[in-house]
Amino acid sequence: MGVRGLESVVRGRVLAGGDAGFGAASRPWNLAVEQEPVAVVEVADAGDVAAVVRWAGERGLSVAAQATGHGATGSASGAVLVRTGALDGVEVDPVRRTARVGAGVSWGRVQEAAAVHGLTGLPGSSPGVGVVGYTLGGGLGWFGRRHGWAADAVRAWEVVDAGGGRARVSAQSDPDLFWALCGGGGDAVVVTGVELELFGAPELYAGAVVWPVERAARVAAVYEEVLAGAPEELSVWWSLHRFPGAEPLVSVQAAFLGSAAVGEKLLAPLVSVGGSVRDTLGVLPLTGLGSVSGDPVDPTPGLARTELLTGAVGEWSAALAAEPLDPLFGVQVRGLGGALAGPSATPFGPLTEPFYAYAFGAPVGPGGAEAVRSRLERLFAGVAVSGRKPLTALAGGEPLGRVFSPGVLERLGRIKRERDPRGVVRAAHPVLG
Ligand SMILES: Cc1cc2nc3c(=O)[nH]c(=O)nc-3n(C[C@H](O)[C@H](O)[C@H](O)COP(=O)(O)OP(=O)(O)OC[C@H]3O[C@@H](n4cnc5c(N)ncnc54)[C@H](O)[C@@H]3O)c2cc1C
Repeated sequence: MGVRGLESVVRGRVLAGGDAGFGAASRPWNLAVEQEPVAVVEVADAGDVAAVVRWAGERGLSVAAQATGHGATGSASGAVLVRTGALDGVEVDPVRRTARVGAGVSWGRVQEAAAVHGLTGLPGSSPGVGVVGYTLGGGLGWFGRRHGWAADAVRAWEVVDAGGGRARVSAQSDPDLFWALCGGGGDAVVVTGVELELFGAPELYAGAVVWPVERAARVAAVYEEVLAGAPEELSVWWSLHRFPGAEPLVSVQAAFLGSAAVGEKLLAPLVSVGGSVRDTLGVLPLTGLGSVSGDPVDPTPGLARTELLTGAVGEWSAALAAEPLDPLFGVQVRGLGGALAGPSATPFGPLTEPFYAYAFGAPVGPGGAEAVRSRLERLFAGVAVSGRKPLTALAGGEPLGRVFSPGVLERLGRIKRERDPRGVVRAAHPVLG
């Protein structure tokens, strides 16, 4: 299907196969994902989004929206890819404690703008992840144990529906669609902006302690001890790092949303392990929180799998550290609980499992992807998992039944059929498969 005529209905840049720059514009942040859209539109504004949706709908084409491509799954292949980078507005209302955020904005910018007013949003581990993609998937990070899912902090969505009409969707104006957007993936509309509730910015005591892998058993025991006594303001994550050519390491990353004096006391057992090769625990500005887990910033090829663990992690993590991880590079375990396990209006609902474990590798050469997948399979065979996982942790090809209950999937499917009967919008994880 040609894309002739698309340029004449939008103000933004349109690129199709054969155009210089098409490859770069099509490429997602996750370089392991191949996506071949029929065209890329770098929309200039929300009006452009509406025009693209109408144009595509009239021609039987689909539209896939991406801000960064951190969550790309390949589902944009064959669709018109809407790149939302120019929808870059961030307006903080310090009186109402809200931020209106354009669909192209990543978390780092929201945190910078909120910090000016002593406020914070609820980002994940990486400031480079898009606010809209993260929040459509629920969104959990360092603030989760204190404030719950990011999607529960949404006040309203600004959207273009599958017919190209624009609307502001709140819990009052359209409860069904609002529910589907707040953690259900949003596979019925293209979002142009979101209004988020902000929270008072706490003090922050955070950082990472890193040890040679030989200390893994002791570190695992102390990690569990710290977590067992942690208030909701403290989140503690454990990581194993086995990058090729580098010394294997274990680390604990922590963020305490409170004073240094209390944070130091809560995390003292980590320091008492001794023998660390690095200790960055200290007072940080909230805008520095993204540095704690050391997520990659530049586009990277990655294959990952996440599982929710139902029991203790000490023995499992110590055993992982004692064996080769090849071809994986790392494992991260996040202690959950707190507000994440409490009431939630999101389609996922309360996150009651105690741990979230994420393992990743990079596919290299022929058979590389298969080697990573089969190692991921073996890795999780040794630990009790619930079988479900948050939507932002779902890999391409994994079924949505791993995220949502049959009743929730039924309701999301009904909303998709009612709002987008011709399948114009295509999300990373299409609700109807
Ligand atoms: C390094 C890294 C760290 C991460 N850390 C966390 C974390 O701490 N917590 C967590 O919960 N998740 C985390 N994630 C997962 C991340 O939240 C998801 O991959 C999320 O979907 C990324 O959103 P994005 O907008 O950056 O990505 P994109 O790939 O641009 O978007 C992902 C999907 O969101 C939907 N979408 C995006 N924009 C729109 C729009 N305007 N309208 C409609 N649909 C849209 C589409 O389905 C799109 O395919 C992380 C991912 C990476 C790679």
